[in-house]
Amino acid sequence: MNHEVALTFDVERDCPPFAETTLGMERGLPWIMDVLEDAGVKGTFLFTAKIAERFPELARRAAKKHELGCHGLEHERFDKLSVDEGRDRLRAALEILRRFGRVTSFRAPNFQLPDRLYPVLSELGITVDSTKAVHKGWKGGITWIGGVLEVPASTTSIVTRMPWSLQVRFHRRFSSRPLVVYMFHPWEFVRMPRRLRPDCWFGTGENARKNLQRLLKFHLERDARFVTLRDVYEEHSDKAFNEF
Ligand SMILES: [Zn+2]
Repeated sequence: MNHEVALTFDVERDCPPFAETTLGMERGLPWIMDVLEDAGVKGTFLFTAKIAERFPELARRAAKKHELGCHGLEHERFDKLSVDEGRDRLRAALEILRRFGRVTSFRAPNFQLPDRLYPVLSELGITVDSTKAVHKGWKGGITWIGGVLEVPASTTSIVTRMPWSLQVRFHRRFSSRPLVVYMFHPWEFVRMPRRLRPDCWFGTGENARKNLQRLLKFHLERDARFVTLRDVYEEHSDKAFNEF
């Protein structure tokens, strides 16, 4: 079976909480969507509800042509909230995002989602979470947590901003596995100012754009199937991968 590739994008203001700008949505996201749509590929765009309210056309386009998911109300740290506070934030976020279309996937900001909130996600109609991350030490593969299918991120967006000659070995390894989940942010595709901390500007702008195009070409040439997180749920929720 060909390997599957999920391209996921956390749609938030630029490098939170270090910048106040929204260049990622103004210049990055329309470019990303154009590139994916031209290649016939669907992505998963996990919006904070506040950004969806500010950029409704982009949220609508994500829901219509890709998958629209949730990345919190305003990029809050869910590990610092009680269950009730977390539920209130999630309910408010989903109420806003679902005005644009169906929302069943979630990733918590900063890769921080305590186990106590998984049943709350399930209760609110979220079927897939992608907060766990292999680069943060997750070794559980794809699995069920609190009634939600956990589909972990395979790698950090720092990797996809490295020089192509260095990152390509990661992609070779990923393409021998059943599924790879990449994660990006729209602001990475706009040159970020150097006054921010290095992980906010390193490899951003033209470099990230070229690398995304190379990444698409790399997997398309290897006959990958591009999937959304919802596709993963619909096709694989009856099993869990052992190797990821
Ligand atoms: Zn985020």
